[in-house]
This record gives sequence, C-alpha cells and structure tokens, in this order.
Amino acid sequence: MTDISQLTPSPPASTTGRPFSELPLSPAILATLQQLGYLTMTPIQAASLPVALAGHDLIAQAKTGSGKTAAFGLPLLTNLNPRRFAVQAMVLCPTRELADQVTQEIRRLARSADNIKILTLCGGSIIRTQIASLEHGAHIIVGTPGRIMDHIDRGTLNLEALNTLVLDEADRMLEMGFNDQIAYVAKHCPAQRQTLLFSATYPEGIARLARQFMRTPQEVKLLEQHEESKIRQRFYKVEDGDRLQAVATLLKHYRPVSTLAFCNTKQQCRSLLEVLHAQGIKALTLNGDMEQRERDQVLIQFANRSSSVLVATDVAARGLDIAQLEAVINVDVTPDPEVHIHRIGRTGRADQDGWALSLCAPSERNRIIGIAKMMHIEPEWHELGELNSEDEAPLVPPMVTLQILGGRKEKIRPGDVLGALTGEAGFTREQVGKITVTDQSTYVAVARNIAQEAVRKLSAGKVKGKTVKVRAL
Ligand code: ADP
Ligand code: MG
Repeated sequence: MTDISQLTPSPPASTTGRPFSELPLSPAILATLQQLGYLTMTPIQAASLPVALAGHDLIAQAKTGSGKTAAFGLPLLTNLNPRRFAVQAMVLCPTRELADQVTQEIRRLARSADNIKILTLCGGSIIRTQIASLEHGAHIIVGTPGRIMDHIDRGTLNLEALNTLVLDEADRMLEMGFNDQIAYVAKHCPAQRQTLLFSATYPEGIARLARQFMRTPQEVKLLEQHEESKIRQRFYKVEDGDRLQAVATLLKHYRPVSTLAFCNTKQQCRSLLEVLHAQGIKALTLNGDMEQRERDQVLIQFANRSSSVLVATDVAARGLDIAQLEAVINVDVTPDPEVHIHRIGRTGRADQDGWALSLCAPSERNRIIGIAKMMHIEPEWHELGELNSEDEAPLVPPMVTLQILGGRKEKIRPGDVLGALTGEAGFTREQVGKITVTDQSTYVAVARNIAQEAVRKLSAGKVKGKTVKVRAL
C-alpha cells in the first residue's frame, strides 16, 4: 500500500468550537482525539456524529477537507468489538488513493485501541495476497466496490458480523459507474446494519442509490460558505484563443507556490501542460490512464512543493486533500456553480489566504451569473492587460523531489532519510521537506539549491546501513 498520509496535514478551520466530549465516545477515543489535535468538531462532524452515534442511517454532504472521515470513522470504531475477530465495518471508496487516505485516518483514530486490524482491498493489487490477508482476519475493510464484489463472489470475504457499511465519496462512485457494484455489495451485507453515506456534492443519483438499501436515513447537508476574507476571487475576461497563455500570465503575476488549475476536458489539460512547459513552468497533470505509481509520483511532487502547478479535470482532482494551495485557477469556467464553489474551496484553507482566479470567455458569461447568484457575490472583473508578466523572473518551485530506490519493503522510515541528510551529509532540518515512503521508493523534498549536492551525498553515503540509488525527479 502506498502511504499518502503525507498529503493530508491541513486541518479544516474549526470555527464552531463544540468539543468532542459532548458525544458518547469512549475515554480512550477522546484521549486520541486530543493527541491528534482535534480540539473541536468540524461543522459536518458536529452535525452528523450525534445522528450516527445514535445508530441511525445517515446521508451527509460536505465539501472536501471538512473532516468527513472522522464523521464515519468514529461511529464505526464505536460499534466495533476488538475482541471479536471478524469484519464488523466496511468502507467503500472510489479509488485506491482515497481508500489509502481513509485507511490512514482510521488507523490514526484507532491507535488507542490495541490490535484493530484494517485491511485495504482494491483493484490493481494481487488478489491472492488479499485472500491470504483475509484468512488472517480483519476488523475493518476499506476498498473499492469492484474488488470487494469480487471477494464476495469468491467467498473469500465473510460479512456475517458486519454492523456498519460506509459509502465514502458516493457522488464520485456514481460518476465512475459503480452503482450496480455498490448495490450488489450492500445486498450481501446483513440487513441489520447501519449504513452511512458521505458525499461532497448531492447529485440526483444519490437519493436513488440511498433508496435501494438505506433505512429511513437522516440527511445532513452543509452548504458551503467560504469566508470571503480568505478566498479572494477574481474573474478575468479572455478570448478563447488566449486562454492557455493567460494561465501563464496569471502565474507569473500572482506567483503562487502551488496552484491547482482546473480544465473541463482532458484534452485541455494536455494542451495547457504543453504551454506551461514551453514557458519553463513546472507543471504536472493527473489523468485516469496513468498507472498508480505515476499518480503517486505526481501527487507527491505537488504536495511537497516541487511542482508549481497541478493541472486536472474535476474528476481527476476529486477527493484529494492537498494542503497549502495558494491559488486555484479555473482555466475553463464550469457550467455547474456548485462545482465552481467546490473547486475554489480547495484554497484559502486553515487560516491562509487563497486566490481563486477564473478565465472567462464571452460565451461563458452566463455561467458567471449563475455562480454569482449562488455565492451571493458581485463578481470582481479584471482585464489581463492590467497584469505585467513580461519582465518577471521565472516561476520556480522552492523544492526538488529526490527519489530513493527502496521503501517500505526495505523497512526504510522517514527518520532514516532525515538522519542521512542531516547527519553525515551535513544539511539542516530546514533544507529538508516532506518525506514520503511508498512500497518500493522513498521520496524526499529538499531545497532546490542543495538538490544536486544532496543526490551526490546520499549516493555516496548510506541509508539504514545500505548504499542506495538516488535521482532527482
Ligand atoms: P474530507 O473527507 O471531508 O475531505 P478529511 O476527513 O480527509 O476530509 O479531513 C481533512 C483533514 O482534516 C485531515 O487532515 C484530518 O486529519 C483533519 N481533521 C478532521 N477532523 C478534524 C478536527 N475535528 N480537528 C482538526 N483536524 C481535523
Ligand atoms: Mg474524504
């Protein structure tokens, strides 16, 4: 499994301030929450935890990064008997990445309880290995619908003891065409169970899905309200033919360290990437055709600040929790105002300011009217001509990612790499950024000006007593 927990360090701004202690949670869990720095509930947690802990079925909608994982993680852990060694909870997720994120978060929440076994079951991994792990037993399963269905078919996944079924990112699972698989899996769970459905948006299909197998679910929806002071939104008039060049102009003018650039189509993503590369801007893209390892590398480089821009469609970017995003650029305006609000909500998190910049051709003006109405704003229009990007220095990311061949399989831990860099190699803690360990590789971000020297010194020295191969990405 890939450890992408490094991608999720930004806590949602907690403004409501209701303490977890007002909930019927065990003292051990309350102590864990305190250790994790979860001092108060996020709004979606405050709205959904009392309902879920009382045993009701629940449909909950709130934007990405609002703390939905704990909103179902705490109820499923509360329903769990660690002494009973059988699958008691199962979480369905749209992709392996999201399943990994959920697994990491549940592990963190469960760390006071001893020996709660969580197993991730996703496509793309060897099924025989999963079957062997299932034979050893597990308390919680997190996985993708297709692969879980496969295990049910083969008789390798026993769900008799299941008491909690969770659908996470239900809207995205529907988009990906998992409706039938989800219904199949739900039908094979015991009728006496609690079902919790979480979603970032609320398309029509959700209610239809819920009707198939939920029991009088209560609904909790949090309409998004961004504090205007944190997200500064500007609309730029552009002609269609100038759009991609305009993205480079915005980047050179605003100079954000990390920017998420949304396009409406995959083709537009590819074209933008070419234009940015031609301008010497370090940009990466995510798409559905990539192998998992490539996707991991893209996300790692973006999250550790060694790529300035991540170009993506809404589908490719959904669910990813990226901390520290100075800007969101809408390369194309989306026809759906709710999607627009969701896009720009990625920036301006955790008390940081963020820019939301939208490029708008004359044919898209109507879309801005819809957005302005839904957000209760008066759009702030600007002209690209106001920006001066000509004599700006090139936009260069502060960090460079080094890939070390060898990862969890070789028992490498982040501390080993940090030790090698700050020990014999003589670098300071400040010159080293995020360290991410995956199965086969370890990725470490280092300050750009020491990158070459760091490659040399790591290659010449040892990590965990062994010589390693290192390269800069
Ligand atoms: P979502 O599923 O809604 O996108 P996540 O569950 O991934 O959101 O949570 C986003 C981030 O917020 C995670 O890094 C998580 O650890 C953190 N978080 C969740 N709940 C709290 C809380 N009550 N206080 C502080 N941080 C929290
Ligand atoms: Mg989530």
